[in-house]
Amino acid sequence: MAPGAAPDAGPALPPRATAEAERLDHFMARAVAAYYAGRDPFGAGGDFTTAPEISQVFGECLGLWAAVTWQLMGSPDPVLLAELGPGRGTLMADATRAIREVMPGFARAARLHLVETSPALRAAQRARLPDATWHDAPEALPDGPLILLANEFLDALPIRQFQRQDGLWRERWVRNGAFLLRDAADPPTADAPDGTVRERSDAALAIVSRLAARLAAQGGAALFLDYGSAEGGAGDSLQAVRAHGAADPLAAPGTADLTAHVDFLALAEAARAAGAAAHGPLPQGIFLRRLGLTQRAAVLAAVDPRRAAEHLAAAQRLHAPEAMGLLFKALALCHPALPTPPGFEAA
Ligand code: SAH
Repeated sequence: MAPGAAPDAGPALPPRATAEAERLDHFMARAVAAYYAGRDPFGAGGDFTTAPEISQVFGECLGLWAAVTWQLMGSPDPVLLAELGPGRGTLMADATRAIREVMPGFARAARLHLVETSPALRAAQRARLPDATWHDAPEALPDGPLILLANEFLDALPIRQFQRQDGLWRERWVRNGAFLLRDAADPPTADAPDGTVRERSDAALAIVSRLAARLAAQGGAALFLDYGSAEGGAGDSLQAVRAHGAADPLAAPGTADLTAHVDFLALAEAARAAGAAAHGPLPQGIFLRRLGLTQRAAVLAAVDPRRAAEHLAAAQRLHAPEAMGLLFKALALCHPALPTPPGFEAA
């Protein structure tokens, strides 16, 4: 779908033949896949807006991050430049434009690889990034040194929820639009008062662990930006958004964007256990300001004076603590011998 076009509401998933219960992560995986499969949900006319759609300076800053990281890696040629869940392809289009300007050698060395499951979004990405190669999963990326970017990818991965009941952990399943509790196969180990809810994304942990092992073996760095706590142990953070408003996460699966907070501490720990170095999580606002976001926004405002206020307000939205600057975090995973990547220098 063309950027800015009204999104197709899309059909709800066909009702299941029986009212069988489904574990929450299986329900969420099905709902997210159906949601993205046939639509472009981004922007004012859609369901939600993401950082690269707010301002071009977001993708430009990440392009500069990738360029400096490439130099820290010893400027390997060729190098894989990859993105997980690229949406409309806006971030990578802005990033590669900035890379061509500031580091043409990196632009020539970079082989673009995108991991995307949605056919509709692959088509949108192909229109902007015709030279890319597409894959269904991060494990399918070819071997070699890698620089990987992912914005609001992890929050779409399925989560499991465990709830404490009568001194035991039980697990949330979904049936007919409501939760029910069942015995949990591999629940959290910690004790907690009755009623406590804990989340875990086995899918995110698996992807991050495999990626970390790969970075440790073959070199490179990965940068994740997403919303979530830096303290870990989120309670119930499952949410659905439709037309920029909250919706019932269990009703009409496939018609709203279903996400959960990312547990950055658990992911950083998993990455370290797999042999990579982890930097962060760091608030997005601090990270972007260190990469020069406000200066780039000021330049943009100066060269495009008619939209100056708009450019400055968009940048403000990305980094101000009361907007996206604090809730969103940045986490970098690196080959252990790599120096600290840009933006993650000690506070
Ligand atoms: N990064 C983009 C889009 C974020 S939305 C932006 O910031 O605007 C989430 C993206 O991840 C979409 O492109 C969606 O199709 C993709 N996605 C969701 N689950 C996925 C999965 N399991 N494998 C690959 N891509 C997935």
